[in-house]
Amino acid sequence: MRVYKIEGKGYECNKYLIVGRKNILVDPGMPEGFFPTLEKIENIVKDIDFIINTHCHYDHTGGDYLYQEYFHVPVIIHNEEVEVLKRGSDITLSSLFNSKMIPPKEVIPLEEVLDELKRCNIEVVETPGHTKGSISLICGNYMITGDTLFAYSVGRWDFPTGNLEELKSSILKLHRIIQEKGISKILPGHGEDAHTHNLDVKSLLLRLEF
Ligand SMILES: [Zn+2]
Ligand SMILES: [Zn+2]
Repeated sequence: MRVYKIEGKGYECNKYLIVGRKNILVDPGMPEGFFPTLEKIENIVKDIDFIINTHCHYDHTGGDYLYQEYFHVPVIIHNEEVEVLKRGSDITLSSLFNSKMIPPKEVIPLEEVLDELKRCNIEVVETPGHTKGSISLICGNYMITGDTLFAYSVGRWDFPTGNLEELKSSILKLHRIIQEKGISKILPGHGEDAHTHNLDVKSLLLRLEF
């Protein structure tokens, strides 16, 4: 399995392409990034099998529908956020990006594909706090963390369905997993990757104590 990073421009998130038993696009980003991202994807693989969103925010999901139409693949998101995404509700924060969400047509709850993901050697960690349905993905010794954990900070908890206490326990959970599984790199939803030996989770958490 290999994980390719396609960097987001401006407010757009980083996208990750997992290539292995199945080819999976994690967080397609916003519609304006579609063509350059598609070109990068097609330089690596001919086809993808599905799309996974780490959470429902527009900077990660706004482009879902374009990739879905192009590749004819389902979009997967945590059960908590299936309806949010299908309705393109305010919880997606599309208005914050001065955009209107065009929801993807086929949205599948994450629990329906957990076994399939396991067969692909991908493990899902529920990490609520940034949003209720935020997830992180473990792919070999890499961890894709969405907007929960970044190289130099942690995610915001002040958006709808966010929760500071949940965010703290999610970060502690990731920290535990990083150590237990010997995760070498975290691949966040924005900004640079972090080698886990440079990641100072304790001081990141201290900043949350106000
Ligand atoms: Zn977010
Ligand atoms: Zn984001």
